[in-house]
Amino acid sequence: MVIKNEEVSRKNDLEILKVEAWKQYEWLLHGFSTRDGGVSKVYGGSTLNLGWTKEDDATSVAENRRRFLAAVCRRRVGSVLVGAKQIHSNIVRVVKKEDGALEGRLQTEGGKAVLEADGLITDVPQVLLGVGTADCVPVFVVDVAKRVVAAVHAGWRGTLARIVEQGIATMQEAYGSQAHDMVAAVGPSIGPCCYTVGESVSSEFGRQFEYARELFIRPTDSREVRLNLWEANRRQLLDAGVPEASIVMMGECTACARSQSGAMRYFSHRAEHGIAGRMLNVIGVAA
Ligand SMILES: [Zn+2]
Repeated sequence: MVIKNEEVSRKNDLEILKVEAWKQYEWLLHGFSTRDGGVSKVYGGSTLNLGWTKEDDATSVAENRRRFLAAVCRRRVGSVLVGAKQIHSNIVRVVKKEDGALEGRLQTEGGKAVLEADGLITDVPQVLLGVGTADCVPVFVVDVAKRVVAAVHAGWRGTLARIVEQGIATMQEAYGSQAHDMVAAVGPSIGPCCYTVGESVSSEFGRQFEYARELFIRPTDSREVRLNLWEANRRQLLDAGVPEASIVMMGECTACARSQSGAMRYFSHRAEHGIAGRMLNVIGVAA
């Protein structure tokens, strides 16, 4: 089941996806980046690479980040991006005021992340949590009652380690959040159309999830196995108690979605054979 639910905002060629249903939350800033509209030259054309990849130069990435954040925040200036060194784990960290994010203590001088984690949570205004992806699933969870936000990076390993469930449990422990107050979005990432995996991944999921069978597609005319990471993360949101109607599936596959010109709409680690830029998916509470 895929709900098309995107509000696209364009500034120059820079395109940001947003959850249409979240427009009602004036205090919430969020956005999923796409490929076009930046100054990077190493991935073909001019692209918005937002990750510190080895191919790209740091000056371009910094400029891309500046443009993207300005577009997400619009006139609300002063937000600080907090990312994490992502390690395909189920480690979730809470970013508190005293951690000094606004004073720049959670990043290096060059803007790189210092925390090691795959999930970040905060209620501090002006802190924009970001996860980088190029096929992995970005998941946002928001407690709209207490104004707490979470950004989760869920590749197959993190999904297997139940990072979304871990993230929601952490919101509950740290802020007393309740699942029925939460809304969530599963962002652009590799879809069940394109995500071929090995049998070993299928067996590992089989040992971890009783619904694992429902997450794999085995086309009758081939021996390949495809994993539906979107559904896997949706199931974790549901199991954690997030109401079904409050979960938005963006339904955009990073490997095969195309922009109007017919070019790739996203970066894709798979489709570009490991040489790809990164999207940034950010969420935060406005000042
Ligand atoms: Zn696809």
